[in-house]
Amino acid sequence: MESVPGLESMEDRRKKKIVCQYTKFQHLANHPMCKLITNNPRKRLKRANFTASAQQIHKSLELPDLRPDTPLQSSIDWPPWNQQSQIEIVKDIDGVTSKKSMIKRELHCLTKNMLDKKYPSNYWIRAFHRWISLRGNARSVLDALESTKCLEVNALAQAITTLSLTASKLVLQWIPGHVDIFGNDVADQLAKEGGMMEQIQHNHSYNGAKTLINSALDCHWRQEHPQHNSKDAIHKLSRAEQVTICRLRTGHNRLKHHLFSRFRIGDGPNCPCGANRQDAQHVPQDCPLLDDARLKYWPEPREMNQKLCGSALQLGITAEFIYAPDLTI
Ligand SMILES: [Zn+2]
Repeated sequence: MESVPGLESMEDRRKKKIVCQYTKFQHLANHPMCKLITNNPRKRLKRANFTASAQQIHKSLELPDLRPDTPLQSSIDWPPWNQQSQIEIVKDIDGVTSKKSMIKRELHCLTKNMLDKKYPSNYWIRAFHRWISLRGNARSVLDALESTKCLEVNALAQAITTLSLTASKLVLQWIPGHVDIFGNDVADQLAKEGGMMEQIQHNHSYNGAKTLINSALDCHWRQEHPQHNSKDAIHKLSRAEQVTICRLRTGHNRLKHHLFSRFRIGDGPNCPCGANRQDAQHVPQDCPLLDDARLKYWPEPREMNQKLCGSALQLGITAEFIYAPDLTI
């Protein structure tokens, strides 16, 4: 049933919680649980325990060693260039609202104009960077640089501070990727090549370890649910509409047939129209009591498959049809 909405099972959530908590204890060197899970357990009757379960899940997900190589870093004065005013972080460009809603040409022109106007090449040295981070895109790295809590970018912040000592002013300016800005495209290509090389640093922060755990569980889930369709139109619907369509698709709903056959709730599986089962096929497709509503929503006859697995528009109509006769689905 998890395949339709793309949800984790309770078992997967339990696994994630155990292995995340185990990894967290490994990172907290002064926590009593850290000593407990690191030392060899005393010999005693075999029974399920936290350490054994976590290690078993860790092994089954084929996760790398997530123990921290170095003790947890403490926060440095943040941001380290606070006393120096010559570093500025700019995370937007005038006119650029959302990358998704704008075409590439438009983004290219706005970015190029901004660079030429604000940072003319006869006064500025432009250095293009593509920051690869477990945190996501370059903007989130800039957010992390401003944050007082994020320790993952300590080294980067220190490097920027050192660099700033050699310049009269340093600006970290975000620009959108893949919009044909020459230096940026080269940086992208080099980052891609670098990402494919063997990574020799295995210093996992707790957040990095959590990302690896999530991604391993996600990969495992995809293997277990090959029929899941991430492009399913159901993901474009509102939450309420998704619930309705999901209940119709899976048959786990509050129509009389399911309630009676599964839980013995109600006076029987029959529909008030006399049909011998009120279920997810009968209500949208066959019930004569709903003929008027059906004609209103679907003037042309539609196959059941289109009503439940069609486009977002079709699915929206199906959900609206179900609300209209005041049924409890
Ligand atoms: Zn009926």
